[in-house]
Amino acid sequence: MNQWLLKKCDFQVMLRSVFRCFQQNSVAGQRNMSQSSLSGKVAIVTASTEGIGLAAAQSLGKRGAHVVVSSRRQTNVDKAVALLQSQNIQVTGTTCHVGVREDREKLVQMTLEKLGGIDILVSNAAVNPFFGNILESTEDVWDKVLSVNVKAPFLLTKLVAPHMENRGFSFRGGNVVFVSSVAGYQPITGLGPYNVSKTALLGLTQALAPELAQSNIRVNCVAPGLIKTRFSSELWKNEALMDQFQKQLSIKRIGEPQEVGEVIAFLCSDQASYITGETITITGGMGCRL
Ligand code: NAP
Repeated sequence: MNQWLLKKCDFQVMLRSVFRCFQQNSVAGQRNMSQSSLSGKVAIVTASTEGIGLAAAQSLGKRGAHVVVSSRRQTNVDKAVALLQSQNIQVTGTTCHVGVREDREKLVQMTLEKLGGIDILVSNAAVNPFFGNILESTEDVWDKVLSVNVKAPFLLTKLVAPHMENRGFSFRGGNVVFVSSVAGYQPITGLGPYNVSKTALLGLTQALAPELAQSNIRVNCVAPGLIKTRFSSELWKNEALMDQFQKQLSIKRIGEPQEVGEVIAFLCSDQASYITGETITITGGMGCRL
């Protein structure tokens, strides 16, 4: 073969591979659309009548999931259900204090009876009943914080996992997402036991992921930075504190609940089908290292 013929062959190979690449990308584009869809899925989101939980319910619901919202107070549940219905989101509501075993069982049972299965659990509830030096925190404080922030996410996962597994492969597997915090990486002064509980969720994510992968369930976690909700209002309403805080951020503003909700919905979608045991930080660029 002479030089000219070789060059012509190379050119044809190149053209063919470019053409193949275009073809593949157009198919991949179509698949991406359906991969982000959660239609037909049932999603339980705890502590979802306001803040990050409500935003997660909106993000999951917008993608077609039927969301089950809950919190301790019926009036809050009613308000959240009405809001989500007004946004054309399929929603069911009930009360559930995640620290109470009967409430957790009622939440799961009601979901199974009314909606026939469970595909997604977003474990979002947390308490912080203490502010001060960690050595001054009492046994009661530790019991409460660990019970609501760590034990309840685990026990809820244990309750829902067999039902996620039962959904079978046609439902493309289950998803659990825990809501930790930047405080799990960098302890926030004064929040002692809360910080520790949020670090524990990073460990729980890694401990559960390999075991639940065998049941086709992915387990991930998000660690928000400062997000504008009632929970964090003591911080963002204090201008001096906010000035200090913003120095640690690359994106110089407080986060919005939807910015966490969207990441949660992504983790529950098929677009994240190869992600498990992972924590995504949503902090506007704060340094997060253990
Ligand atoms: P939020 O806006 O204050 O909302 C709290 C929600 O939790 C409400 O719906 C409340 O409703 C419910 N709730 C409280 N205790 C509960 C319990 N024991 N069982 C069930 N529901 C309960 O709070 P948020 O800021 O969205 O916080 C949500 C999660 O994000 C928490 O895990 C928090 O640690 C984490 N986080 C928040 C930030 C932030 O800056 N906001 C940063 C990092 C991590 P009821 O009063 O009706 O129960």
